[in-house]
Amino acid sequence: MRAMKIARVLVYQHDLEVAGGLYEMSTSEVANLDTTVVVLETSDGTLGFGETCPLGPTYQPQHALGARAAIAEVAPAILGLDPRQPGVVYEAMNQALSGSVYGKSAIDVACWDLSGKAYGARVADLLGGAHRDRIPSYYGVMPASPEACAAKATELVAAGFGRIQVKCGARSLNEDIDTVRAVAAAVPPQTLLLADANRGWTQRQAINFSQATRDIALALEQPCDSLADHYAIAGKVCHPIFLDESADSIANIMDAVSSGLAQGFGMKISRVGGLTPMATVRDIAAARRIPHTVDDTWGGDILAASCVHMAASCLPSQHEGTWISEPYTSRAYPMISSPITNTDGWIDLPSGPGLGVEPDLGAWGEPLVTYS
Ligand SMILES: [Mg+2]
Repeated sequence: MRAMKIARVLVYQHDLEVAGGLYEMSTSEVANLDTTVVVLETSDGTLGFGETCPLGPTYQPQHALGARAAIAEVAPAILGLDPRQPGVVYEAMNQALSGSVYGKSAIDVACWDLSGKAYGARVADLLGGAHRDRIPSYYGVMPASPEACAAKATELVAAGFGRIQVKCGARSLNEDIDTVRAVAAAVPPQTLLLADANRGWTQRQAINFSQATRDIALALEQPCDSLADHYAIAGKVCHPIFLDESADSIANIMDAVSSGLAQGFGMKISRVGGLTPMATVRDIAAARRIPHTVDDTWGGDILAASCVHMAASCLPSQHEGTWISEPYTSRAYPMISSPITNTDGWIDLPSGPGLGVEPDLGAWGEPLVTYS
């Protein structure tokens, strides 16, 4: 096998604006996203791309400066390694730094991109193969009046979305109940419906919400703050529990699956540390027929591409959808490749090789830092 070594690690920063001004969740709202892109340059000049983009500093225990600090810790340890061995590169990162997997995630994704380029294959093919070349997306309806949310959901379903998430937890419980009732009444019964409180409910609120809406087929997505909260409400709520923010490690996810706590997951690739650990999560979920999404926390085309490749490698019966920041982002970074877009609730898999996306590096300016 021809030698291939990581010769340089270049780190870029971009600001991504939220279209329409604000993205609102129960625990935070964001107007700008600080995203970090890692470029791995190999000894033969091939470039691999990865990205990590925390959804602001309070959505979960991640922040942009933390990602870049983690990359600074691990970058020297991966120089000289073969990027076609993402498991070996990952172990070198773990030996250099404990935790902060959302920073390591960008490097891991860049290794998969380089592997694909080296082998002339799509990342989805390296992950086991693409079960489909077009994957479903879903939409998060932000807090508004019940009538406005129902109208938005109706419009989305008519456009092609089969999965609607209603953001809850930011207002009174009665407003949440009225809103979810209005949305459920407005969409066809086969629509996958979720009430996503983004950690915003107390145990009591989650139980009361669920019991008040017990006649509606929906799932509770991350109703409460901690994993312990969810163990406490399990058996007292009337709906399946989908963990999102608390699904933050392979160990937690294994426990949540084996104990029967979680009936689904909102999965973020960077939260578990990249495509390498996410492949394990995918297989755990498949073994117990647990549905899940494959998303990340905002980002641009590079991050979206990693989500779509992973999602394509998931069994369609398990993969419920992939959220990408387009069309919520009004200004991403310049790219040469076609943008990854959400068209009527569906996203096309890039053709590759690797992730199949190419940044316009000439328009990006100088990197923040280069490790060599
Ligand atoms: Mg969520």
